[in-house]
Amino acid sequence: MNIRLLEKIYFTREHLYLVFEGDVEFEAGHALGIEREGVKRYYSVASAPSDGVITFVVHLIPGGRMSGIFERAEPGDEWKVVDVVGKFSLDLLKGKTAVLSAGTGIAPFRSLYREALHRGMELDVIHLHSARYLHHVPFLGEWEKYGVKFVPTITRDPNYPGERGRIDGEKVKKYVPDHGERTFLVCGPSAFVGDMVRLLSSLGVKKFVVEGW
Ligand SMILES: Cc1cc2nc3c(=O)[nH]c(=O)nc-3n(C[C@H](O)[C@H](O)[C@H](O)COP(=O)(O)OP(=O)(O)OC[C@H]3O[C@@H](n4cnc5c(N)ncnc54)[C@H](O)[C@@H]3O)c2cc1C
Repeated sequence: MNIRLLEKIYFTREHLYLVFEGDVEFEAGHALGIEREGVKRYYSVASAPSDGVITFVVHLIPGGRMSGIFERAEPGDEWKVVDVVGKFSLDLLKGKTAVLSAGTGIAPFRSLYREALHRGMELDVIHLHSARYLHHVPFLGEWEKYGVKFVPTITRDPNYPGERGRIDGEKVKKYVPDHGERTFLVCGPSAFVGDMVRLLSSLGVKKFVVEGW
């Protein structure tokens, strides 16, 4: 099966928001393996299965092969869907949950929160998201509407008036005081995920699910 590009929006110079149509079966929080011009890569779906469109948030890598294909892409272009994978599911949001994400690692949680909203599920989620600048955070203005406590922490802007710097033990203790009772979901670049696993282990957190790239 194929997905067809409907819209391509640069929300920063290096980040794309892509909207596709296509009849693909996937679960909220999962990623699609897609192929074009002989290049296959995975992208987390940022929309819910019941949204009727498939959206991705892409960080363009200079010289990256699929990044180049996305930069040249125009509405109507198609990708073959060759795989569907994912470790996150709606079941993981049924209890007390904490989410730690960085960069495009935010995408699967938008899919999960939207699906929870469509199903009328009440969420008890504290979400810390690390980004270089606030305008690098996609879907700003949506997060609180999903009924989650969303805290962006901004690493590169010294004038940002909210939380700044990387996610560390102090921030987890401040925003997730009951961290021992929560299941943690962690997603983002592999270096970030490795750091978070070490951090959570040092805090004695036992239940976590991670996905990194
Ligand atoms: C399950 C899963 C879900 C994913 N979801 C997303 C998503 O939602 N959004 C998204 O943007 N990506 C996501 N990725 C990563 C994506 O699959 C590609 O790896 C990424 O887009 C780079 O592909 P490319 O072909 O453009 O670059 P490549 O041609 O693969 O890489 C070019 C070079 O850049 C290096 N490189 C790769 N990544 C980075 C980086 N982050 N910073 C600096 N250098 C890098 C590589 O080591 C390589 O040397 C996901 C990966 C997995 C496994």
